[in-house]
Amino acid sequence: MSAFQAPAGRYAPSPSGDLHFGNLRTAVLAWLFARQTGRNFYLRVEDIDSERSSAESAQRQIEDLQMLGLDFDPPVMYQHDRGDAYADALSRLDTYECYCTRRDIREAASAPHAQPGMYPGTCRDLSEEQRAFRRSELHAEGRLPAIRLRAHVKEWTVRDFYQGEYTGPVDDVILKRGGRIDQAQAGDWAYNLAVVVDDGYQGVDQVVRGDDLLFSAPAQAYLADRLGLTVPVYIHVPLVVGPEGRRLAKRDGAVTLREMLAGKSVEDVVSQIAESLGYVGVSSVQELLEEFDPAQLSREPWLWTPQQPEGF
Ligand code: GLU
Repeated sequence: MSAFQAPAGRYAPSPSGDLHFGNLRTAVLAWLFARQTGRNFYLRVEDIDSERSSAESAQRQIEDLQMLGLDFDPPVMYQHDRGDAYADALSRLDTYECYCTRRDIREAASAPHAQPGMYPGTCRDLSEEQRAFRRSELHAEGRLPAIRLRAHVKEWTVRDFYQGEYTGPVDDVILKRGGRIDQAQAGDWAYNLAVVVDDGYQGVDQVVRGDDLLFSAPAQAYLADRLGLTVPVYIHVPLVVGPEGRRLAKRDGAVTLREMLAGKSVEDVVSQIAESLGYVGVSSVQELLEEFDPAQLSREPWLWTPQQPEGF
């Protein structure tokens, strides 16, 4: 029995550093949408990328979100515990081994925010002999093949709260990355598989996240459909951008909650988030919950300016 209950929303950060203003704003939006619609709200730690994730970072992220006043329904789920579920899902999908180099795979796949090129299908239709040959070549280099989805469609349509019907391409996404034979963990699970399996398991039928992930929704919805899971309603929200017009990043200055708290209070930071959503003079997330109107949210990216006046 799952400890989780539909209907639910979630916030699913990757624990590879402190959350910045843009992450916090998206988390607040995910919480607002879930709570305003009477949903459960789960925090999921997306730590499948074992090299970039840390337990300390996850803990700090949780503390930061709680400091803002967001509450989650228990339990917090960690993707590093979910290998069996991903393996089970993999066994139910039409897949094939891919022997392309790490570089090819990186370009073609699966980091959440890197818009991948479409995989050209290099390994899709190899004969068994060709596969045996490529596999042994890889083994000689100490590597294992990656696993890809054999997609049977070229595109898929999702429903997005702000975009309406959104149709995008679906390619043979990576489901499991190739690993090194000498490592105990033979390759990391890929984001696209983990996110779909976990949303299904947690009863998540409302996915709120930054609109830089809109392009990945069609492939994820297709995967959910293949696995017999409910396809969520997507709510892709505008990003916060830094002074150069790119997605806000650490290099843009004092952008994490802890950095911001050096010069202001938690209420000030919540006010700043509320202001970015169009609400002036609101300093608690509970107040925001009462006032937030999804239809009024600006569809434009929010421009982060480093020197916000004190306490507005
Ligand atoms: N873990 C992903 C990230 O940090 C978000 C995944 C999602 O919301 O679908 O950007």
